[in-house]
Amino acid sequence: MIEGILEGSPDAVGVAVIRLDCGCRKMAAINSQGEPASKIIMYRDNALSICELCQDDQGSFSRVIRQFISWKKPEPDHATQQMITRKVLGS
Ligand SMILES: [Zn+2]
Repeated sequence: MIEGILEGSPDAVGVAVIRLDCGCRKMAAINSQGEPASKIIMYRDNALSICELCQDDQGSFSRVIRQFISWKKPEPDHATQQMITRKVLGS
């Protein structure tokens, strides 16, 4: 899934992955400036569509349980990773 997003987004340096408490995920490619490089994709393992809760609230931030960036190889240097992580995930 992440590989597919990266292939479709040549500018991307990584993919932001946001896991929600219902088991669905939000993902979006991120470029080297920390800007979105694809549209946000919502996804649920082994399911054709996201759950009803997400269809209602589009994956509210109040239900986020984990968020991280999966970096494309070769990974950006540490300072760049930190800058992008702060910009994208706010931490
Ligand atoms: Zn869901």
